[in-house]
Amino acid sequence: MEKLIITAAVVGSGPTKRMNQAVPYTPAEIAAEAVNCWRAGAAVAHIHVRHPQSGAPSMDVDLFQEVVSQIRTECDMLINLTTSGLDLQGEDVIEQRLAPVTLTPDLCSLDIGSVNFYERAFVNPPAWGVLAAERMRAVGVKPEIEVFDTGHIAQAQSLIDDGLIETPPYFQLCMGVGWGIKATPEHLRFMHSQLPPGAIWSVLGIGQAQLPMNRMGIQLGGHVRVGFEDNLYLEKGVLAKSNAQFVERIVSLAGEMGRQVASPVEARHILGLPRAD
Ligand code: ZN
Repeated sequence: MEKLIITAAVVGSGPTKRMNQAVPYTPAEIAAEAVNCWRAGAAVAHIHVRHPQSGAPSMDVDLFQEVVSQIRTECDMLINLTTSGLDLQGEDVIEQRLAPVTLTPDLCSLDIGSVNFYERAFVNPPAWGVLAAERMRAVGVKPEIEVFDTGHIAQAQSLIDDGLIETPPYFQLCMGVGWGIKATPEHLRFMHSQLPPGAIWSVLGIGQAQLPMNRMGIQLGGHVRVGFEDNLYLEKGVLAKSNAQFVERIVSLAGEMGRQVASPVEARHILGLPRAD
């Protein structure tokens, strides 16, 4: 089976230091978490940024640039910048969301479909998906298509059919996020069955679903995402001390399950990205 790509989503936009003291806020803290995950075996860092003092979510491109520079100075892991911009307001929300694409990271997340997160809506109109895919394609950034339900896969297929997303597409199956698809084995099997032939895919599970969804992903030949963005606890009642602890656990689980872990260079090859040099 193909080697396993481990993505570390080290901060996200929701977790706070009040929930877990180890959640990073400053660019230096975020980059250090990512690099420690690389040391533990992660090939990709999925990055959000925060206002360094308050910890509030931010889409400030200078903060992204700081994180990217520090990671690239220290290691060769692939960088995946978010474009979710969940809390943004104003008339230029779309441009704020797309600002990280201008830094030409290896990957950018692309949320194409709308979904309700318990108390609020994550709105992604069809025109957003088209524009974001076009922008990423224009600068050679591969989209990591985040799908929260099966309909989002069909929507991605239409962008692939229109030539806006190049093949093979790379999907992140987001299981158990708000009122999106549930994080159960049945739901994951069904999501997997809906992917276009040849698609590359990874899976994340929220909270206590993180580990079982990861385990199934390893079994089914997918890749996995771990980290504070999705889960703050190593086990029930035990907060993780770092993102790297999640990566270490997955590396050891993959070993038990007979799956080797991909280096950044190997991940680049699997994802069909150009070589770094
Ligand atoms: Zn994210």
